[in-house]
Amino acid sequence: MPVDPALSELARPIEDGQPWPRPACPNCQTGYIGFSAPTEDEGHDSVSVRDHPAFVPEWISGTFVVRGQCENPECRQAVHGTGNYCVDYSQKSNRDEFEYQCIPYSSYYTVTHLHPPMLMMPIPKVSSRRGPRGCPARISRALR
Ligand SMILES: [Zn+2]
Repeated sequence: MPVDPALSELARPIEDGQPWPRPACPNCQTGYIGFSAPTEDEGHDSVSVRDHPAFVPEWISGTFVVRGQCENPECRQAVHGTGNYCVDYSQKSNRDEFEYQCIPYSSYYTVTHLHPPMLMMPIPKVSSRRGPRGCPARISRALR
């Protein structure tokens, strides 16, 4: 089963401020899912190191939720996503609101779950060719 390229893109980190991929709707298959801006929920470990003298924004991390909806007006299927985010140097976005010591930073979102579920990565086929069971044990017995 081929994987929608937009879903493969969703499996990679998405920089804050960049357009989100628009996967095909799992319900109607004709519309595309448009995502709104994610909501961050900074992790407790991340919050607790904010006052550390050596603090750098790369230490910020947490989870996020994102909501999407099918753009087909006849469908409007809601899609909920969640995953992890971290903070690193900006690559594409250059937003003034998050600078630390004159260096622009961005959040990077990695989606781990979508509901309704969508296949984000091709599932590798499990090889049916396996070695005979118990082989290592037989070898170790033979060496004794
Ligand atoms: Zn739809």
